[in-house]
Amino acid sequence: MIPRLAGCAAAALLLAGTALAQAPRPKESPTDPVMCVVCGDYTFDRKDATPAVYEGKRIYLCSVNELALIKKDPAKYVWATDVVSGKRVNKIHTPFTADYRVRVQKVKEQGKIETWPRRFFFESAKTREEFLRNPGKYLRQPYAV
Ligand SMILES: [Zn+2]
Repeated sequence: MIPRLAGCAAAALLLAGTALAQAPRPKESPTDPVMCVVCGDYTFDRKDATPAVYEGKRIYLCSVNELALIKKDPAKYVWATDVVSGKRVNKIHTPFTADYRVRVQKVKEQGKIETWPRRFFFESAKTREEFLRNPGKYLRQPYAV
């Protein structure tokens, strides 16, 4: 019992230290836009999305059925291509993202092109900066969902 308690105290101290070391994070709001990992665009306010956990990270989906899609074909749904370097990037784990409004070709409504916010994923801060310097160079519009 004693070692276990000591372990907990150590963990609590470690957490406190971590919290102090980090910059304050903005509070999550129920109306924050969140992105469905499967569909790739901002579909919901946070309160309307279906939260799930994949590889230890919280993600948002349209429905729980989409979690099965991700598990079945992660190459298709979890991995994206860095539009600058062409490297494959894990959408759930990369911290390097940029949100951009692009004209999107909706698959279900052929011929209908809408402007949607879309998240782009990068392998590094360097490629993200390059994208943000000249996004038009890297976007082929309309952008297929
Ligand atoms: Zn979805």
